[in-house]
Amino acid sequence: MGIDVKVEFPRVRFSCVMCGECCRRYWIPVTHRDIARIVEYTGMRPRDFLALFPREMAADWDEPVIKIGGGEYYLVLKKRLDGTCIFNKWVNGKLVCSIHPVKPNVCRYYPFIYWLDGGVVKFEVYDKALNYCPGLNRGGYATFKIEISSIGDTVSAKAEFRKIVEEWNNTVGKGGRGTIEEFFSYIERVVGDYIRNKNP
Ligand code: SF4
Ligand code: SF4
Repeated sequence: MGIDVKVEFPRVRFSCVMCGECCRRYWIPVTHRDIARIVEYTGMRPRDFLALFPREMAADWDEPVIKIGGGEYYLVLKKRLDGTCIFNKWVNGKLVCSIHPVKPNVCRYYPFIYWLDGGVVKFEVYDKALNYCPGLNRGGYATFKIEISSIGDTVSAKAEFRKIVEEWNNTVGKGGRGTIEEFFSYIERVVGDYIRNKNP
């Protein structure tokens, strides 16, 4: 369930060639809703595909900061040693996403990013992607159908996830003294509750 929001898009040509370069380059932040979709699709446990990325190694991401054992982290998808995402797989020479129908919203939007300007969600081309994304300036003009259908869900999910992380930081996680094991148990409980409430 999402909310109605005003959205603005750039006029740009884009056609993804499934080179997988964006999957290799970036850590993918997720919310409980992204995690729930992946759990329902794959049957995996969240802790088997999630990782904690240290805040000091990241740029200033617009994601909630999770306090664990004296450190600060962002919640992301696991990667393999070669940089590929845990859900990447090679098919006929292309690096494809094995969870394409349920992939995190950050992945769905790439190479576009969005930001909130008052009550308006504004999408733009991620400037760094101009240097390596071969899908940009290729094919027809982007129609942003996926973004239009999911941005309300994304905005709601991010607001909910901030509260989920606040509850961990302030209460469940004992003010930052909780362990990684305890954090993953908490997230798995939150995601399980979310799935049960969604499918009563
Ligand atoms: S969005 Fe761009 S970088 Fe990512 S897989 Fe598609 S073409 Fe490659
Ligand atoms: S979830 Fe899919 S699209 Fe996103 S980084 Fe992983 S393989 Fe790429």
